[in-house]
Amino acid sequence: MIIVLKPDFSESQLQHICEKVQEMGFKYEISRGLKRTLVGVIGEEDRLRNAPLRAIPGVEDVMSILKPFKLASREFKAEDSVFDLGRGVKVGGGNLMLIAGPCAIEGEEILLEIGKAVRAAGANVLRGGAFKPRTSPYSFQGMGEEGLKILRRVGDELKMPVVTEVMDPRQVELVAKYTDIFQIGARNMQNFNLLAEVGKVKQPVLLKRGMSASVEDLLMSAEYILASGNPRVILCERGIRSFDKSTRNLLDLAIIPNAKGLTHLPIIADPSHATGRPDLIPAMSYASIAAGADGVHIEVHSCPEKAMSDGPQALLPPQYAEVVKKMHQLAEVMGKTIPQAV
Ligand code: PEP
Ligand code: MN
Repeated sequence: MIIVLKPDFSESQLQHICEKVQEMGFKYEISRGLKRTLVGVIGEEDRLRNAPLRAIPGVEDVMSILKPFKLASREFKAEDSVFDLGRGVKVGGGNLMLIAGPCAIEGEEILLEIGKAVRAAGANVLRGGAFKPRTSPYSFQGMGEEGLKILRRVGDELKMPVVTEVMDPRQVELVAKYTDIFQIGARNMQNFNLLAEVGKVKQPVLLKRGMSASVEDLLMSAEYILASGNPRVILCERGIRSFDKSTRNLLDLAIIPNAKGLTHLPIIADPSHATGRPDLIPAMSYASIAAGADGVHIEVHSCPEKAMSDGPQALLPPQYAEVVKKMHQLAEVMGKTIPQAV
């Protein structure tokens, strides 16, 4: 349910509205738009319908949001959300985040070498997994806390915000000590306990689409994080399962404009996990920008054959630099900017 405030509402009326909503046993979120201020009321729709919300002073209208996702919807917030990621980097509303780095953190020296290269190429967020969701229990599972410490040190040295994956609600507190952005991987998109847990942290969350999740499933997962109190969710298309085994997954570019029509949240693309093929990543990166993506996530390694995870899909630093160069040109055509980390 959305409470639309009168254009001339007062702050004390807004406070009163929020108190009343709370007294009735509902949670709320305020959205201050350019034209109107809205209060999103969260709770069981049936109970809400009978609540006398219209009678509260300052209220102009009370509307039901028909879509199952509420806080994520364009109805709740008409303008694109813009999130500050630290070090001058923003995403959304015309700002592109360029995430790059190895699949896994493998050691300090190698991460610094790759980090320096991607930073010089123009990446504005450094990635690296310390907890890796591997299909086989016998594959490298990540360096754990030692890896998180390395990522933090390298991010600080290179003056770049960092993103890393969290796989378990019990890891959230630990990861929060080291990262600027949390990543929820495709395999955990519907781990609802984990979503609720990252809903309580102060950092933004990069939420990757599950391999067979619909746009509505993705937005409902975002809703879990928003409803738990974290307003900063960045969506990520990373390819869905298909019958064609010539690519790792199928990059669903249409979800980008599709999601943009439904939500104010930024959405980026990950052509690395979507294609699994370095020869296809450049073209799919350009296509993602042209489709309106708010950023591109690419795995880069200085020696892919020695990589402990996802080596075959990694771009070499010079290949990445070439891709960023063209993405800058495309960004200009699309009226977007690529902030530089400072
Ligand atoms: C990753 O980013 O390395 C990763 C495991 O991604 P996904 O969850 O999209 O497979
Ligand atoms: Mn990977």
